[in-house]
Amino acid sequence: MLTIDGSEGEGGGQVLRSSLAMSLVTTTPLHMVKIRAKRKKPGLMRQHLTAVQAAKQVGRAEVEGDDIGSQNLRFQPNSIAPGPYRFAVGTAGSATLVLQTVLPPLLTASARSTLTLEGGTHNPFAPPFDFLHDSFLPLVNTMGPTVTARLERPGFYPAGGGRLSVGIEPSVRLAGFSLLDRGEVRRRTARAIVSRLPRSIAERELAVVARKLGFSTDELQVEEIADPRGPGNVVMITIQSEHVTEVFTEFGSRGVRAEKVADRAADAAERYLAGNAPVGEHLADQLLIPLALAGGGSFRTFPPTQHTLTNIEVLKQFLNVEITPWQVDSDTWQIDVKAG
Ligand code: ATP
Repeated sequence: MLTIDGSEGEGGGQVLRSSLAMSLVTTTPLHMVKIRAKRKKPGLMRQHLTAVQAAKQVGRAEVEGDDIGSQNLRFQPNSIAPGPYRFAVGTAGSATLVLQTVLPPLLTASARSTLTLEGGTHNPFAPPFDFLHDSFLPLVNTMGPTVTARLERPGFYPAGGGRLSVGIEPSVRLAGFSLLDRGEVRRRTARAIVSRLPRSIAERELAVVARKLGFSTDELQVEEIADPRGPGNVVMITIQSEHVTEVFTEFGSRGVRAEKVADRAADAAERYLAGNAPVGEHLADQLLIPLALAGGGSFRTFPPTQHTLTNIEVLKQFLNVEITPWQVDSDTWQIDVKAG
């Protein structure tokens, strides 16, 4: 049984999700202690518990400690069972983070899976649906499997009620990739979504993006949610380049001016465009698991975040793999993944 200390590195939900994913893929029994010890409310919250329960079903696992608030978990997987699943967070907690937990083992499973995930689809501090669809999954699909994702209903914090469906056509082995430059920028778009909020918020946001990044009207899109469950506002800037697509997201929140929200999203996109690296900081930590499973590959990114460094440490505990981040120039790093 492998013991993972959840207070290491980032000390949050990422350590749990990556450990569960790796425990499933390698059928390694896992004892996790000090779960989310560095967070204000440590232990399993609703969203993390749903991830544990999802992992339990997918891996036909025996589990102890799967309770709200638990900081101690024993997880013993048996075999990966592809198939149809429905996982509901039950709150506005992120449904895409539940996917992050069970996707790795299903990528190389023996048959197709279809997942319905319910909860938040556009949450701060989690991959928004559009990031998965436009950025992360297209890269995973270059590795062998075919993963499709459809947003059936968006869910924003705090109302939730979102749903996405995911189809996973697995591949026996994953092929690594080398993503060292982004190539030419092919298309740039900015979308501002409003749910049960005035359209003018989205229009003000897009005006800021247009001014700061020089986007033309046909690169801007306002989207009003047709059947809103609750209020929500998000600005997403998508930079589609030859070899990679990146999505920069900011969420509107009470007390923060729409202009400020758009400003932050535009700044993130601007920083990306000013640098050379193809892979932004969120995509970087999320690509590590599939690349480690493929046993090789490289990408260039920005200075590694705590999430990325933490994921590297977790992966090295489960797999015989070398993951080396090294600095290429002042703001570009390369991460090389090699079988050990
Ligand atoms: P905790 O509450 O314990 O901090 P958590 O379960 O909410 O943890 P984190 O540990 O913060 O989650 O991990 C968040 C994950 O979501 C990371 O993989 C990160 O890359 C991803 N993520 C966060 N924001 C974005 C974004 N804007 N776009 C894409 N991915 C994102």
